[in-house]
Amino acid sequence: MSSFLSPRACSQEAPCKCSFDALQFMTELRNTQTVVEFGTILDLGYRLYEQGQNIVNCKYCQRSRQSSLITLPVLAEQCLSLLEAACSTYEISRKDPLFDLPAISLEQSLSGFICLKSKITLGQIELDGEEVEILVRMLLNRNLLMLAELLESFKGILGTLLKDNSDAERAATLRACDSSVDSTIHRLAGLIEQLGVESMGYP
Ligand SMILES: [Zn+2]
Repeated sequence: MSSFLSPRACSQEAPCKCSFDALQFMTELRNTQTVVEFGTILDLGYRLYEQGQNIVNCKYCQRSRQSSLITLPVLAEQCLSLLEAACSTYEISRKDPLFDLPAISLEQSLSGFICLKSKITLGQIELDGEEVEILVRMLLNRNLLMLAELLESFKGILGTLLKDNSDAERAATLRACDSSVDSTIHRLAGLIEQLGVESMGYP
């Protein structure tokens, strides 16, 4: 008779664990201190790549309205801010041709994050000087390319999902994600350019 005790119809599909992972990662990023070690930044970058790929490829998240997909732009933006801080610390910045000053300085780090240099070792050997610079560039390069790859596949999925116009509210959310990802990709491309990687195909 009365229906108020019966549960509302809900999806029978078992939800994935993406939202749990994303929440945990987001909490960790929120708890990240303003001053972060270089090694921690790289670690967060690798983990975002792994978790992000899981979310992007998750069939449940692609269908669900409460999808973890919508957390990805925020996570990516935060990780990029950390990587920007690392580039500042290691003074990896394009020189401004007019003033011959680094385009971004530590004080100007937009996000407010400050990266602390980590001890850079290769096996047992602690590197210094120019060797550190080379290895740091390689590590940052790898991390930035992973982020770029993740955002590209994310945009691919968003494009596919946006072709389905049956849910206007969801489409609006996805479009907001898409434009947020675009601006992160724009910043990312700038950083990759500073690092001097030319084979990415970004403008
Ligand atoms: Zn999922």
